[in-house]
Parts: sequence; C-alpha cells; structure tokens
Amino acid sequence: MGELAPPHVLIFPFPAQGPINCMIKLAELFVSLTDFHVTFLNSEHNHKRLGIGPESGSQRVRFKSIPDGLPESHPRSASLFFELHDSIQTQSRSVFREMLVKKVRVGEPPVSCVISDGLMPFVVDVGEEVGVPVISFRTLSGCCFWAFFSIPWLIEAGVLPILDGADMDQLVTGIPGMEGLLRLRDLPSYCQVRDLLNPGLQQMQVVTRYSAKAHTLILNTFEALEGPILAEIRKHCKTTRAIGPLNAMLQARAPDAPPLLPSTSLWLEDHSCLTWLDSHAPNSVLYVSFGSYVVMSRGQLIEFCYGIINSRKPFLWVIRPDLLAGDEMVLPEELTVEAKARGRFVEWAPQKQVLQHPAVAGFLTHSGWNSTLESLVAEVPMLCWPFFVDQQINSRFVERVWGMGLDMKDTCERVVIEHLVSELVESEGLRTATRAMAEKARQSVDPSGSSYLEFEELVNDIRAMSTCAI
Ligand code: UDP
Repeated sequence: MGELAPPHVLIFPFPAQGPINCMIKLAELFVSLTDFHVTFLNSEHNHKRLGIGPESGSQRVRFKSIPDGLPESHPRSASLFFELHDSIQTQSRSVFREMLVKKVRVGEPPVSCVISDGLMPFVVDVGEEVGVPVISFRTLSGCCFWAFFSIPWLIEAGVLPILDGADMDQLVTGIPGMEGLLRLRDLPSYCQVRDLLNPGLQQMQVVTRYSAKAHTLILNTFEALEGPILAEIRKHCKTTRAIGPLNAMLQARAPDAPPLLPSTSLWLEDHSCLTWLDSHAPNSVLYVSFGSYVVMSRGQLIEFCYGIINSRKPFLWVIRPDLLAGDEMVLPEELTVEAKARGRFVEWAPQKQVLQHPAVAGFLTHSGWNSTLESLVAEVPMLCWPFFVDQQINSRFVERVWGMGLDMKDTCERVVIEHLVSELVESEGLRTATRAMAEKARQSVDPSGSSYLEFEELVNDIRAMSTCAI
C-alpha cells in the first residue's frame, strides 16, 4: 500500500447568498490549513452571477456548476423559495449522482466526501447509493435547527398548530432546553402555522431530521454561544461539529489566506460606502441591511425611513433592487431631502468590511445567521426586524439570551423605530455584552478553543474517509 492521497472534498451549498458565503469560508479554511483538494459546486445560475470562469480556481480548488432545474428568468425570490427547493431536490439529483461516480477530469482525485447543505437531503441518499460519505452542513443557527428538530414534540405538546386568535406572547413548551424562553411569535416562521399540513412545516421537519442520517452535522456556531442547545442536538445527531464562527476562524487561523473568489456576492458590491464611512466619527453610524431575501411593502419602508431619520443618526442603508414587493422605490420629497443630508443608500454593500469599520455603531438587521455572526464578531450590537426562517428565533436569542441587541419583531412603526435606533446606538450595555461575546468567539477559534478543536476533528474524520492510495 502506498502513501495516502490527500482527500478531495466536494462542497455543495444551497444556491442562495447566505449558504454560499458561509460554506466558501469552510472551503477557504481547508485550502489554507490542510492539503485537501476542494470542489465548490454552485448552481449554474449562481455560477454565472458570481462571474466564475475557466480561469477561476487552482490545482487544488475547482469550481463546478449544476442546473437547479428552473428557467433562467425565474426570480428565485423568498416567496418562491420552495419552488427552488423542490426543483433542486428533484431536477439536480441525476447530474449530481453522475458527478460523484465519474471523475470529471483526468487526473482528478475521486471525491472522498461531500459536505452539502443540509437543506438538500437528496445528497445524503445519493451518497449512500454510491458509497461516498456525506456530511450535512446546516448554515442556520443551532437554536433554529433544534426548534425544527423539535417539531414532532411541539405537535405532541399541543403548541402546533397555532390556533386562530392565539395569544402570540404565550410561552412555548416542547423544545427541550428552551423552556420559558420562546413565545409563539419567536418560533421560526415555518413553525408559525395554523395547519399541520403546511408544506413549509412538513419540509423543515423532514429536512432537519435527515441531518441525523448524515455522517456528521456541521453548525456554524460555538459552545459559548449555544452550548446547552448543542448538548441537546448531540443526543440525536451524535457527531455534531460546532466550528463557528467561520469568519472569526478565518481571520484568526488563516489571516493571509487569499480569498477563493474576488467576491462571493450575487449583487455588485458598492465599495464607495467605505469612503463615506471614513468621513464619520467612530461609533456614530447606523448600518441598515435586510440581507438577500427580505421583501417589504412601501408602507414599511416609509416607516423605517421616518424612524431612522427622526433618530437623527447618520445611516448607511442597503436597498436591494428587489427589496420592495411590487412597488416602486419612491420616497416622499421631505424624506429624500433629509435622507440625503444624513444618509447613504447602496444596492449592495461589502458587509463584512462595513461592520468592521470603526464608524459603525449599530446594525438594523433582519437577523439572518450570517449577518448575526458577522455583527457579533465585529462587536456591533443589533436591532432586529426578522422576516422568515431562523430570523424570528435568532432575534429572540440576540435580545433575551445573549443581550447583544433589541428585538423589534412584528412591529414596524416610526416612533418605535426612532426610539430603538437611539437606544441601540447609545447603549453602553449592549456594546459591552456584544464585545464580551466577540471575545468568547475569538477564544473558541484559538488553537485550544472549542471550535478549532472541532475543526481539527472534522479534518481527521475526513482523512480517515479517504482510503485512496497513490
Ligand atoms: N451581505 C452583503 N452585502 C449586503 C447585504 C448582505 O455582503 O449588502 C451578505 C452578508 O454579509 C451575509 C449574507 O449577505 O454574509 C446574508 O446572509 P444572511 O444569513 O445574513 O441572510 P440571508 O440573506 O440568507 O437572509
């Protein structure tokens, strides 16, 4: 028997901005800290949007693409999330299977393991069929994963379905480890259903329970943040690796690693806002972004505008071209003048750099998990206005458990917004708590920290899977 060839890991995110941003960081860690070969698999649609060409990648890193089964003109928006989800599950399966069994290029090492987004359980089945181990990476929070996992117990406890006219402030039972913590309104959006046959509820239950079938479950979180929940998850998904925050791990363990792509943004980043931030005093600016999926009405946008402007704080605000549902983005005249005097609008920002900028004092966010971790690591407290999936539970944890922000869910009134923006930017307590959690995040990615040790274990597991000798 000869020397063992380095493992070849195929990384397959769900085709959306959050999962791509999260999973490419894992690819970058493998490339900088190990000898692994990595293939990063995008949907054809995103492959094009990311501008990936034949020259992208290197000898150890390949970018490949797979059809998602939808026509090019499909908007792939939040309201059509399950169309994309169903399509990729059914249409991409055979191409993916072929990709795993065939060497796509002469001399390319066979795939030793797949790390796929846990939103796509078909990958676990295909891996089983062809004898390639599959690791499931859920890119949402541990608390949301656990709430989805607990759906059968929520039903048993009579919490679900939620009855018409129910008091949404009623406390939830049925999620082990979270007693007394969540109100009905804090459940992940797909759990807030009136009907047990709701497709979102059903899909999330099936998909989440599937992760227990995978070889390993990876979560982008850390012990000091979600330790008690991780302990519950490990009772069911034995090998659960909490290796986050991946952005902090990259910063600390591979600070000089060149990024695998010039940008992972599906929209064009407007870097001019960094120069605009340079002209502001430290800890003075409110950063506003609702991520890649949130859609709001014109009425809500106007409430946010009045609230933010009346708080008299300078602001940098990301307004994606598709942020408004159907409406045109036209503000009343008085708002436009005021907004120009104190604020800056961009269509898409280099968010990680924005959050790290000393001028930024607070983040008005939709509480997507990547945004939450990026804000935490940058020591920026959050004002949360959750939209869907894990955002409702993340924002509850941000305020109630971690003390790093304020949860404004289910309200969108200018007076409330004005008051909370001022509180966010001026509160020393929120800043201190966020700083303390950021310090714990840094400790977790130290060479002896929990996340780094879990990452090393993951690397060892993958090596053990690679039986190919040269
Ligand atoms: N993001 C960005 N620029 C923006 C807005 C968002 O680069 O103007 C990035 C952000 O840094 C994060 C991702 O987009 O990595 C959004 O992921 P998240 O999980 O927060 O929310 P989602 O978009 O999935 O709802």
